[in-house]
Amino acid sequence: MGLFKSSKHLQNTDLPNFQLSKEDFDDVMSLIIVDKQKKIIHINQQFYSDFGFVPQEYIGKSIHVFSVFYEESNDRNVFWKEHFTAKFSAYVKIENASKQLDFCKLKVIEKPNGQYWLLFDKITHEQQSFTSLKESVQLFTSLVNNTPDIICFKDGNGKWLFANDSDLELFHLKGVDYIGKTDLEIAEYTHDVYRRSFETCYKTDEKCWQSGEASRGDEIIQTPNGVEKVYDVIKIPVFNKDGSRKNLIVLGRDVSENRKVEVDLIEAKQKAEESDRLKSNFLATMSHELRTPLNAVIGFANLIYEEEDLTEIHEFARIINNNSKMLLNLIEDIFDVSLIESEQVQIDHSEFDLVKSIKEVYEIFPVELNMLDKLDIEFKIILDRDTFVLKGDEFRIKQILTNLIRNALKFTKKGFIHIGLKVSDKYWDLSVTDSGIGISEDKLQEIFGMFRQVEEGYKRSFGGAGLGLSISKRLAEMMRGDILVESELNKGSTFILRVPMD
Ligand code: ADP
Repeated sequence: MGLFKSSKHLQNTDLPNFQLSKEDFDDVMSLIIVDKQKKIIHINQQFYSDFGFVPQEYIGKSIHVFSVFYEESNDRNVFWKEHFTAKFSAYVKIENASKQLDFCKLKVIEKPNGQYWLLFDKITHEQQSFTSLKESVQLFTSLVNNTPDIICFKDGNGKWLFANDSDLELFHLKGVDYIGKTDLEIAEYTHDVYRRSFETCYKTDEKCWQSGEASRGDEIIQTPNGVEKVYDVIKIPVFNKDGSRKNLIVLGRDVSENRKVEVDLIEAKQKAEESDRLKSNFLATMSHELRTPLNAVIGFANLIYEEEDLTEIHEFARIINNNSKMLLNLIEDIFDVSLIESEQVQIDHSEFDLVKSIKEVYEIFPVELNMLDKLDIEFKIILDRDTFVLKGDEFRIKQILTNLIRNALKFTKKGFIHIGLKVSDKYWDLSVTDSGIGISEDKLQEIFGMFRQVEEGYKRSFGGAGLGLSISKRLAEMMRGDILVESELNKGSTFILRVPMD
């Protein structure tokens, strides 16, 4: 082995000594000398031995006749155009006379007279294998580091051996010397919020080892900015021949978006099913709500023909009148729903006295109490003032109050129904409190939905289409207010229309 042939020398490659003459390289290292125009002026014998090119045939030709490849490029011209410089020194591949690629270390030296000396140090078979292995490892590492998935290798004791960039980024571990540390040890080097993920990971690793086979599952990872991420994690245990634990491979993919879409889809499906159920329920309720007063109207109208007693006829006419009003109310509710749905309801802002309006609504109910045979119910207004002038939509406020009182009447057999008004700096509350059947906690928000009733379908014992509260709530929201409810089953309910003062 000659002067420059040792691999040790190749590593410290600031050599060769500039005082050496070109003959000093013969039998030692391949040498090509080119002039300023990159024309070949000398090729030594070693170049022939290493690569098979007959020196005499190339003198005077451009250095471009030789194909040199650097890094991953397969283009014959790239090296000379882009990489060849006076200080180039790196491993390259050169195409030999038999069109095979040989590995060598190429060092370029610029001489004071403008010549370039190209020193090719062909590397041995072992070195070649080592270089290609190194290249493969580099390729593998860059592949593994460029995937958005997280990849981590651990030893049989849970100590980290390798983690790719995505894994280190996810857990804010860039720059941390993680090798040889367990999950719980690594948790000390990063944000506190990850501690739970590392603890969970430690436990699921153990489960995987015990099951002896690959496992897969979602792992939820909290991040410092409060966003929760979901990773689909695959764990693969690798055992030694004697059955002892060797390595654990952990692969994880961020599926947060997919899981969100899945949840949205499930919700959308549930909503569709629910709206389907509500539609059927609505049809059942509607046909009942229409049929009952219509039957009464038709039935009593027929009876009038046969009846001669004038008092009876008046009673029948009263019943027909009441049932027609019920029908009209229902149709008005449906009309309101369609107006609200198509955003055609305008809220008025005229000045009026709310106390006066409350009294006006109140006055129409004793007749209904009488008709329902509920005169025993204590029905009164509790007000802390004689007048309350405000700007708003009197008609709609009266409509909401009527709905609330009508419900109170419907769902209260005995006890009381109180109408109240409380005014504070921020808002005013118009309330209807009853001692009726009340509503269980789980239904309290549901009842504001369109066609929603605590009792649904044919088994209902109270009339109504389930529209009053949803219409009232939507109207209240249009006034930038809301309808609030407090209720206890079998004790009674309070419904409040709350509207901000401004
Ligand atoms: P409707 O009264 O026509 O069924 P609403 O939308 O006005 O429709 O009311 C929805 C449901 O809310 C009622 O069916 C009933 O189950 C419940 N509810 C409303 N007000 C009261 C009340 N004062 N007491 C008990 N339950 C009530």
